[in-house]
Amino acid sequence: MLKLIDVGKKYKRNKDQYFYAANSINYEFSETGFYLLYGKSGSGKSTIANLIASFEKPDEGHILYENIEINKLNQVNLNYYRQKIVGMVFQHYNLIEDLTVLENVILPRKIIQDKLSNAVADAEKILDELNIRKLENKVCKNLSGGEKQRVAIARCLINNPKIIICDEPTGALDEKNSIQVIKLLKKLSKRHLIIVISHNYDLIKTYADNILYLSDGKLKEKHNLHYINSLKRFNFKKNHIHFFNFIKFSIKNFLNNKIKNLLILLSTSFCIFSSLIVLGFVNGSNDFLNKETYARFDYSFSTISKIEEIHIDNSFLKLNKMERLSHSELEKLISSYPFISFGMNYNKLLENSSAYIDNHKLESYSLSFVYNFDCINKELIIVGEKTANDGIYINESLDKKLQEKLNIKTALGRYINIKLFKEFRFDLYDNGEQISDKFSFEKSYFVKGIVSEFNFLSTPKIYLCYQDFDSNMKNISSINLSKYYSKNYTWFDYIYNSSGNEEQTSFSHYIFLNDLSKIRDFDAFIDSINSTDDIEVSCDGYLLKNTFEDIIYAIRIGVFIFMILTIIGMVLIIGISSFSTFAFKKKQNAILISLGINIEQLFSIYILENFFILVLSLIFGFILSFIFQPIINKLIFNVFQLKDLINIPFITAFNIPLFLPTIIVFFSFFITYFSTYLPIYFSKNINISKELKDE
Ligand code: ADP
Ligand code: MG
Repeated sequence: MLKLIDVGKKYKRNKDQYFYAANSINYEFSETGFYLLYGKSGSGKSTIANLIASFEKPDEGHILYENIEINKLNQVNLNYYRQKIVGMVFQHYNLIEDLTVLENVILPRKIIQDKLSNAVADAEKILDELNIRKLENKVCKNLSGGEKQRVAIARCLINNPKIIICDEPTGALDEKNSIQVIKLLKKLSKRHLIIVISHNYDLIKTYADNILYLSDGKLKEKHNLHYINSLKRFNFKKNHIHFFNFIKFSIKNFLNNKIKNLLILLSTSFCIFSSLIVLGFVNGSNDFLNKETYARFDYSFSTISKIEEIHIDNSFLKLNKMERLSHSELEKLISSYPFISFGMNYNKLLENSSAYIDNHKLESYSLSFVYNFDCINKELIIVGEKTANDGIYINESLDKKLQEKLNIKTALGRYINIKLFKEFRFDLYDNGEQISDKFSFEKSYFVKGIVSEFNFLSTPKIYLCYQDFDSNMKNISSINLSKYYSKNYTWFDYIYNSSGNEEQTSFSHYIFLNDLSKIRDFDAFIDSINSTDDIEVSCDGYLLKNTFEDIIYAIRIGVFIFMILTIIGMVLIIGISSFSTFAFKKKQNAILISLGINIEQLFSIYILENFFILVLSLIFGFILSFIFQPIINKLIFNVFQLKDLINIPFITAFNIPLFLPTIIVFFSFFITYFSTYLPIYFSKNINISKELKDE
């Protein structure tokens, strides 16, 4: 039945010297019976036990069970051998101390994927037989040695193995317990092949059917056996793996390392939290760019001019000569853009401006035009009226300044008096004469509203309605020029009739977006114009937006790198955690492997443990980011005045509800899966006999 043919096992004595711990063993055991294998300490008894149990492979010879060569089986067949054919009882029991008696006993049944109810029924029968039924719900670490040894035997019996090897089963027991255990084994030898290894010859000899004496790795008793090469395998059906079979194990493992797991939990929660914040930034900054940078009150106000490159002879220098486009050129250019209007550039007339409120002179403000107040972004008007072509708007920044300076609640509803003055000298080329005139304009404007805009970069500003200003200019005459031309000649006429390369035209026209819903088309218009060499549009809002985009993209790359590092950190944390669990649980794994567990089952234990951690850290990570998103946003707003820069797309991304959380969950599971698999893979190479050796 069980045959050892010329079996030899060598170990290293020192650097390059070997010795035989088992030396040409030739023996055939019968199907049942009580065998005593005895010999002095170090004679090779445990070596033979480990060889029969398949925990070690022989260097020489063959071990055959029913003519199946054990030392040549593949992993699946080897597991079957460990599950169903052979069982081992150790001096120091090798139970899983944190599990209860019942849980330990049914463990080999779980490994062969039997129904739990069958396993429990059989286990209770065995516990009854061994008189330890009352212990079934006790945790093993609380049992006495004699009790533990009986539990170990019960666990060994649950899958009804053909061979039970007991390596010094009474070594740790007193005489009374020893005799009880030996009697029990004697009883079992009616149905099983029992091989008891002991150096306590006197105690056991009376029970033994066969006595084998081992000395220096050599067996005194020998049979003459012949090896016949056979390729026989075990004939069995492989079971499906049930992933949750070992959930109790995972929970116990998880709870046994509370502090370690708590620390891991904290780190992975933080990783998930910071990844979410990074994604929130990417998403939020995108929204922010779209919302805030287009949300300038004067976004649509630009100038346009013709650029001519002038090459200087014998020099690599080039000069840019700016010139106002002719009306026909301009009209042609904007003909397919109905949302664009143009007008005279009045910058020269605005050059010396002063503004007063309650006889109080305003310092450092700028005047800016809006085509008319019907076309602007009304959401930006935070207080006041939404249309007011006869009035002006001021921005928050100016309002704040006025509040402080004049000790008022707001400048809304007050009048601001704007005065413009400029002295012009005209060369009248037709007769060489020179005349001069004074441009002056004064008007009290009612502050109709306060505008919120991209505060981060805003200076105090007054917004005038271009159409209103333009009609004023069409009404105010230049007295001396009118005299000269002998007809009413307005300041509008003066700028309108100037040639494109004269200073008073500022070498450009104003162009305006007159329908704010077309702001992106306006951008496209500017892009297309600026991509040509000879015409240039310059728009503060557009410039600012582009600069800001560049900055945000740069930051985005930075935070993405941070996120990748975080994810690598998370992989490492989970990997190191499972590796340390593996190292910590080496003995437990060796026990499970000795019972014939396969690698997938072992994996399921650890993956579940890691999944607990993962699920918890996902929950914590999400809660943390939920709590901290508004706090971080508030901080950013207080420092930079950037609103809602972090916007974690909890609800939607790409219009798919819960898209991002789902992605993160999947990704995390993926990471966990692989970082768990690695250390488990190493378990394949666990040296079972070394891990389970009695100290
Ligand atoms: P016994 O169980 O009879 O006390 P063992 O079979 O454990 O003896 O050991 C037999 C001999 O082999 C001893 O000299 C022991 O030191 C040696 N030995 C056992 N296992 C190993 C091993 N893994 N590596 C090296 N030497 C070993
Ligand atoms: Mg031994």
